Amino acid sequence: MDLSLMNKEQKKAIKTTEGPLLIMAGAGSGKTRVLTHRITYLLGEKEVPSRNILAITFTNKAAREMKERVAALVGGGAASMWISTFHSMCVRILRSNINYIGYENSFSILDPTDQKSVIKDILKRRNLDVKQHNPRNIIGYISDKKNQLIKPDQAISEAASYPDTLYSEMYSDYQRILYRNSALDFDDLIMLTIELFDKEPKVLEHYQNRFQYIHVDEYQDTNHAQYRLISQLAEKYRNICVVGDSDQSIYKFRGADISNILNFEDDYPEATVITLEQNYRSSKNILDAANAVIENNTERKPKALRTARDGGPKLQLMVSDSERGEAETIIGNIQSLSGEHSYSDMAVLYRTNAQSRAIEDALVKSNIPYKMVGGMKFYDRKEIKDLMSYLKVILNPNDDISFERIVNTPKRGLGPKTIDKLKAHGQNTGISIFEAIKESDFIGIPKTAVVKLMGLVDLLESLKHKSRFLTITELVDEVLKHSGYRKMLEGEKSIEATSRLENLEEFKTVTMEFDRDNEISDELLFTFLSDMALVSDQDSVEDDSGVTLMTMHASKGLEFKVVFVVGLEEGIFPSRRVAYDDRELEEERRLMYVALTRAEDRLFLSRANSRMIFGKTESNIQSRFLSEIPERLVEGNEAVGGSASGGMKKRSGKPKRSRVLTNNSGVTFSIGDKVEHKKFGDGIISGIKGEGDSQELDIVFTKAGVKRLLANFAPIEKK
Ligand code: ATP
Ligand code: MG
Repeated sequence: MDLSLMNKEQKKAIKTTEGPLLIMAGAGSGKTRVLTHRITYLLGEKEVPSRNILAITFTNKAAREMKERVAALVGGGAASMWISTFHSMCVRILRSNINYIGYENSFSILDPTDQKSVIKDILKRRNLDVKQHNPRNIIGYISDKKNQLIKPDQAISEAASYPDTLYSEMYSDYQRILYRNSALDFDDLIMLTIELFDKEPKVLEHYQNRFQYIHVDEYQDTNHAQYRLISQLAEKYRNICVVGDSDQSIYKFRGADISNILNFEDDYPEATVITLEQNYRSSKNILDAANAVIENNTERKPKALRTARDGGPKLQLMVSDSERGEAETIIGNIQSLSGEHSYSDMAVLYRTNAQSRAIEDALVKSNIPYKMVGGMKFYDRKEIKDLMSYLKVILNPNDDISFERIVNTPKRGLGPKTIDKLKAHGQNTGISIFEAIKESDFIGIPKTAVVKLMGLVDLLESLKHKSRFLTITELVDEVLKHSGYRKMLEGEKSIEATSRLENLEEFKTVTMEFDRDNEISDELLFTFLSDMALVSDQDSVEDDSGVTLMTMHASKGLEFKVVFVVGLEEGIFPSRRVAYDDRELEEERRLMYVALTRAEDRLFLSRANSRMIFGKTESNIQSRFLSEIPERLVEGNEAVGGSASGGMKKRSGKPKRSRVLTNNSGVTFSIGDKVEHKKFGDGIISGIKGEGDSQELDIVFTKAGVKRLLANFAPIEKK
C-alpha cells in the first residue's frame, strides 16, 4: 500500500501494529485517517485476517465511512470486519450470547420515550407524582449508575440521602421491569456485555481471540463502562490502539471520563505513544483562532499544532439584531458562497437544538436544501412509533411497553379496565401481557373482550410467522393492512391523518434502503430494529446533499469547507448553566474548540444582540469565547474585543478599532443589513471587506444575485 502520503509520525503509528499504542493529537491531525490506514496495513502487509480486527467509532456514520474507506483501499476483504460503535458491537455480541445471563436473545432496545413511560409507570405504582419527580432526572440517575457499572443492589446500599435513596429503589424496579420485558436500554447494552464477559470467561475468550487487533477512535470520550469493556477485550493480546484528543472531550454529561485517555500509559506501561502535530484540515487563521481559544483552559497539557496551509481568509464576524437577522445573514452568506462551494460543504453549528428553528425557517423560505442532524423527530412521531411497536412485539412478544401501545391502536374496543387486568395478572404471575391474554378467560375479562384479544394474538403470531419470509418493507405493508392501521387513517380524512399516512410512506424509503443491503433471514427483523434503535445523534434521516444543521456536539470528528458557528453569546454559549463552574466552563471551551476546528476554508462566527429562545427574548453580551480570538484573525461588522471578559487580547497594542463602516452619507452598514440598490433592487449584506475608500460590500440581491460593490460609492440605501 501507498504510505507516501502520510507524514513520519503517521507512518510510525500505522506500522506499530503490535502492543498498545496511544495516539494523542489535536484536531484535524489525521488520527482517524491513521486508524483507517492502519487497518488496511494490517490486512494488506501483515496479512491479518479481517475477522481479527475490531474498530470502534463514535457514531454509525463514522463507522460507515471508515468501512467504505477500508473497502476502497483493500476491496471486498473488509466485509467480515467489525467496524462499529460500542452499542452496535454489544448488540451483536449479546444477540448470540445474552441467554447466558438470562435474557431472551430476541430482546428489545428501549428508546428514551419508552424509558420515560417505564418510569412513569413506576411512579404511578409507588403513588408518586410525576410533577414532583421529573422522569428525566431519574433516567439520568440510572444512566449514571450504569455507566459506572453500579447495579441496583449496590446503588441501594450506597444511597445515603434523598433523592438517591428513592432513585436507587426506582432503579431496582426499572431494571426488574426491563428484565421481564426482555428489554435493554442503551446503557444496558454495554453493562450487560461486561456482565456476560465476567460471568462466562469462555465467551470472553472467544471474543478476545477474535479481536486480536482493537482500535478505538475518540477515546477521550469513553465512559467507565466502555473503558472496562475495552480492557476486557484487549487483555489477552494487548494489541490496542486508541486515538484521541483531550482537548475534544465534550461528553462528560454522559459519563465520559477524560482520565481513560490520560491514564492509558499507566494501564499499559509498555505502550508506544505518538503525537501528531501537523494539522491538514484548516487554514492557518482558523487553526490560530482555535488554538488561542483552547489555550485559556488551565487543565490541559500544552500541545503544538501547526498547519502547512496558508493563512486563508480571515474569520468573519457577523452581528445581528435578532435570531432572525442571524438566520438571514447566514442565508446571505450561504447563497454568496454557493457558486464556489456546494451546499453539502457547508455546516451551521449551534449549542442547542432549540437554536435551529430560526435557521431552518430561513432556509426553507430561501429554498436552500438542508439536512438536520440529530433532530430525530421523524422517529418520534406517533405513527412511526406505533408501527415500530408492532414490529417490536412481533419480534419480542414479551415487550409489554410496546404491546401496550398497540393493544388498542387502532381501536379494538378494548377498554383500559381490560388492559389493567391483564397487566395486573401479568405482574402477579411474572408473565407478559401477551402471555396473560392466553389466560384471559380465567381472570374475569368479559367474553367479547377475550375474543378480540385472541384475534390480536392470532394476528401477531401470523405476522411473526410471515416475518421469516418477507422483506421488512413487505412486513410493514402486512402490518399496516392486517392490523387495520392504514384503514383507520384513511377513514379519518383529516389533514393530520393524511400527513401520518405520508410519513408511513416516507418510512418505507428507510425500509427499502435496508432491504437493499440485507437478505431475508431469521435475523432480519432483529437487525432492522436494532439498527433503528441505534440511529445516533449524528445520523440524519435525509440523504447527503444540502447544508448540514447540527449541534456542536454532533459535529465531532467531521469536517466542512465552510462552517458557521452561531449564537456566540454569554448565556447561550457558554450556556448559563456553566458560567460559574470552572470545570464545566472548560468543557464548554473544548466544545468551542471542536466547533472551530471543523472548518477547512471559511469560518463564520455569529452573535445576535437579542434573541428569542425558549419562548422569551434575551439580550446577551458577546461570548467570552469570541473575545478570546485575536482581533487580527477576524473581520466583520463589529470588533471582537471589548465586552465579555475584559476585552480580547490586543496583540498589536493599538486601541480597539471599530469595524463599523460608513458610506458617503454617513450611514453605517453591518452584515445582515437589508439594503436597496437603485438598479439591483432589494438585497442583504453578506460580507464586508477592506477599509477606507476601497471597502467593499458583498450583497445578495433577491433578483440580481450576488454582487460586490464599493461601500462608499454604490447607490445603495439601508432599509
Ligand atoms: P478530529 O480530531 O477532528 O477527529 P482527526 O485527527 O481525526 O481530526 P482526520 O479527520 O483523520 O483528523 O484528518 C483531517 C483531514 O486531514 C482529513 O481530510 C484527512 O484526509 C486529512 N489528512 C490527514 N493526514 C493527511 C496527510 N498526511 N496528507 C494529506 N491529508 C491528510
Ligand atoms: Mg477524527
